[in-house]
Amino acid sequence: MGRKEELDNLKREVLSCKKCALYKTRNNVVFGEGNENAEVMFIGEAPGKQEDLQGRPFVGSAGKLLTELIENILKLKRSDVYIANVLKCRPPGNRDPKENEIIACKGYLEKQIEIINPKILCALGRFAANFLAEKYKIKFNSIMQDHGKVFFVDNKKIIFTFHPAAALYKPYIKELLEKDFKILSKLTDLKRRNITLYDF
Ligand code: URA
Ligand code: SF4
Repeated sequence: MGRKEELDNLKREVLSCKKCALYKTRNNVVFGEGNENAEVMFIGEAPGKQEDLQGRPFVGSAGKLLTELIENILKLKRSDVYIANVLKCRPPGNRDPKENEIIACKGYLEKQIEIINPKILCALGRFAANFLAEKYKIKFNSIMQDHGKVFFVDNKKIIFTFHPAAALYKPYIKELLEKDFKILSKLTDLKRRNITLYDF
């Protein structure tokens, strides 16, 4: 089975999931989308209002900023990368995900990572960072302390940065987010420039 078929099968399973109470209030499951052969995978927190209505990740105002960063700094298209969230259903009123919801849902994200097998994983915000830190046994304190650092684990490069929603009304966070995307662009650019990591 190819990656696309494996993702389609997983998606079918997630679309009818009732493993936590969020299924009762969702309009749509937001499985994730993008290139099944992506080199870079972004992980957000959970669907917001627009995402819940459309069934697609990062399509609201935070998504607009994420798309701009992908296009303007990474010089990639959204369709080159893969975008998913820790939770696939919207927490009412955009409250923080609860521990039991994360535990119920995280197997889906783990499978997505396994199928896509991206070289680079980028956590957007603390819930995604906590997920990756736990999965790859990385010491993580806070986004403020650890953003922009590149961790080499399991043949992957892992980087934590701010959630784009946090940057919307805070210019200093936006600047830090842009700086982190420049670091990310060096990682994604390695193959294109045919250089090794030692040069960077
Ligand atoms: N915020 C997220 O964390 N994920 C989305 O898909 C949209 C907003
Ligand atoms: Fe299932 Fe995840 Fe949605 Fe909860 S958030 S119902 S575990 S898909």
